[in-house]
Amino acid sequence: MPPEFFHEGDLVGVLTTQPLDRLLDYKAPEGGCHLGAFVEVPLGPRKVLGVIWGAGKGDYDRAKIRSVIRVLDVAPMRDEMRVFLTRAADYTLTPMPAMLRLGTRAPGLGDPQSMRKVYRLGAKDPDRMTSAREKVLAVLRDYGGLSFTKRELAEMADVGTSVVNGLVKQGAVTEEEAPRDTPYPRLDPDYGGKALSADQAAGAEALRAALRRDAYDTTLLKGVTGSGKTEVYLEAVAECLRMGRQALVLLPEIALSGEFIARVEARFGMKPAEWHSGVTMTERRRCWRMVGQGDAQLVVGARSALFLPYQNLGLIVVDEEHDTSYKQEDGVLYNARDMAVLRAAINGAQVVLASATPSLESWANVEAGKYKRLELTSRFGAAVMPKMSAIDMRVEDVPGGTWVSPTLRDAMQSRLDRGEQSLVFLNRRGYAPITLCRACGHQIGCDDCDARMVEHRFLKRLMCHQCGETKPMPTVCPSCGAEDRLSAVGPGVERMGEEVAKLFPDARVAVLSSDLYGSARAMKAHIEQIAEGGTDIIIGTQLVAKGHNFPLLTLVGVIDADLGLQGSDLRAAERTFQLMRQVAGRAGRAATPGEALLQTYQPEHAVIRAILAGDEESFWKAEAAERKAAGVPPYGRMAGIILSSPNVQDVFDLGAEMARMDVPLRQIGAQVFGPAPAPIARVRGRHRVRLLVKADKTAPLQQALAKWTGQFRLPTNLRLAIDIDPQSFY
Ligand code: ADP
Ligand code: ZN
Repeated sequence: MPPEFFHEGDLVGVLTTQPLDRLLDYKAPEGGCHLGAFVEVPLGPRKVLGVIWGAGKGDYDRAKIRSVIRVLDVAPMRDEMRVFLTRAADYTLTPMPAMLRLGTRAPGLGDPQSMRKVYRLGAKDPDRMTSAREKVLAVLRDYGGLSFTKRELAEMADVGTSVVNGLVKQGAVTEEEAPRDTPYPRLDPDYGGKALSADQAAGAEALRAALRRDAYDTTLLKGVTGSGKTEVYLEAVAECLRMGRQALVLLPEIALSGEFIARVEARFGMKPAEWHSGVTMTERRRCWRMVGQGDAQLVVGARSALFLPYQNLGLIVVDEEHDTSYKQEDGVLYNARDMAVLRAAINGAQVVLASATPSLESWANVEAGKYKRLELTSRFGAAVMPKMSAIDMRVEDVPGGTWVSPTLRDAMQSRLDRGEQSLVFLNRRGYAPITLCRACGHQIGCDDCDARMVEHRFLKRLMCHQCGETKPMPTVCPSCGAEDRLSAVGPGVERMGEEVAKLFPDARVAVLSSDLYGSARAMKAHIEQIAEGGTDIIIGTQLVAKGHNFPLLTLVGVIDADLGLQGSDLRAAERTFQLMRQVAGRAGRAATPGEALLQTYQPEHAVIRAILAGDEESFWKAEAAERKAAGVPPYGRMAGIILSSPNVQDVFDLGAEMARMDVPLRQIGAQVFGPAPAPIARVRGRHRVRLLVKADKTAPLQQALAKWTGQFRLPTNLRLAIDIDPQSFY
């Protein structure tokens, strides 16, 4: 055990955020420092951020060792956070400095607390009372202990700021300096609970009892969309707050909506802290600090909220736990769902995984007795799961260049006649996936990736969905120079919007796709307007499958239910099943029952049949049996290795050498497959080769991978990324 405190001059080992593979020795600063303290240390000519990780090693010339510059004014990192970062690094094979960067993603951590002026009620009366002055004083009297900035105060009193200035001059209002980062308002666990249905009440009680045991456990909370899972886990949050512990609710980034925050506010009387890409820098810093000093009781956030410095974390809810956006695919490759379980296990906290369509991983963990399972069986109130059926596209009469079958069209017409909403679902952004030259057959591709450019007619550009590069839509073929022979092939949501508008010229049609909005706020506003009935027909990508409530929606038409079944991804069936169920679940959430129609060319496909039958248990059992037989996750372990470089020879040479020198893998009974060009063989100008490692569930995969990859010297500019439990295989 390292000592808890280091006196001035003691040797300390500091983990910095710089890409170095060891701790650095420094001398403790004047006044000493605690284990876990955030510090600023000199590194060459620079000052960098670090954390006191333990005692120094002392294997360095003591005379040359420099002192820690200063201890930052934030709570020291707790033991459990150091353990969490270390274990997460071991699991994902991520260097510790990169892990620490995840744990310190707040701007200005090193800066002293900035101050601002706040205003309170003073002792004196003003010389002359005006109605404006009276309004200001009334606000301050009404909110007894609270202080406001000048602008807040003036706004609340509905007067100009000069009125406040006048009162300050007279001593009727006092002005003082206060820290800019203020605690979040206290949440009241007993503020606005709903009367729960019987199975909701039973679920809530089970979660409360689990929390009171004060130990780690994971519960899978399963229930169709609209069954009231959110209400149930908010009761667990309430219990956690009563116990004086902090709670975290993770949402898929895309679903972080005002709707959820409003529900929290209705339940607890105040808004929670938020942590996601839409939060301002100032708010981010406040959140990080307040979480660290226990002045934020509940955080609602995206996956990186797991790395905030909680002081006493008692509960993590992972909503829509099957969502693929929990897997970070850039930089540190981690799955937030799995890291939530790890973090909770270290903290003695509870995890609730909520989903209508759990991942096979979680399902298997329930089967194995590792997770508990709670199930809500009916939709809340009158709503029932929609009736699902297939439209056999082999017998429908669909003119070329269009995609809506007569059967779907009729169903939409009847909704229009009744004043109900329909959703046309196609999981493809843009206008058309392929732009083809009718003269030479050339398909326009990205200059830097092995990917076709997707036409975005709304933006009037072609876009690469791999690297995001765009270029103007050409009028002549870039290959043969033919004029006006380029044509769009296949549908994207924008094109579906066109087709639907032609079919129903009097209907109000809206296309919902994440790339059509300038900001998250604009998107949110549009979604709310649609939900309130501002649209008759919604055309949407998977954006609409997630979490939004459309009470007037009674029909979902899936344009291409087969889309996700193509390709070799081991999770293709699972994903399609989940997505189709989620989309279908959008229909009929209020009192009117819904219907879902799936256009397919293979209605007899096992996955399509399982979706239609709605028989989840047998789908999961069949899927589990197949994966077990193949020895793939969750019944076996996998790691993806991606080598990438501008130099194509380098990646293939190293790939071949790695496949040859596989002794460390064979020692644990693991197999290596490849090298093979990655499905997208070039991204952003880098050639990509992948290897796949497969091992038994119990094999010590990480150690073997570390030993294996450690044998090779990487040519300059070649990057090797290891993806444990890969989710996508692109
Ligand atoms: P899920 O999270 O399973 O999709 P929600 O918790 O969002 O389901 O519930 C669906 C809808 O039903 C929401 O509008 C919610 O406010 C409402 N609801 C759920 N439970 C209750 C309850 N006990 N009393 C009143 N309304 C409820
Ligand atoms: Zn590209």
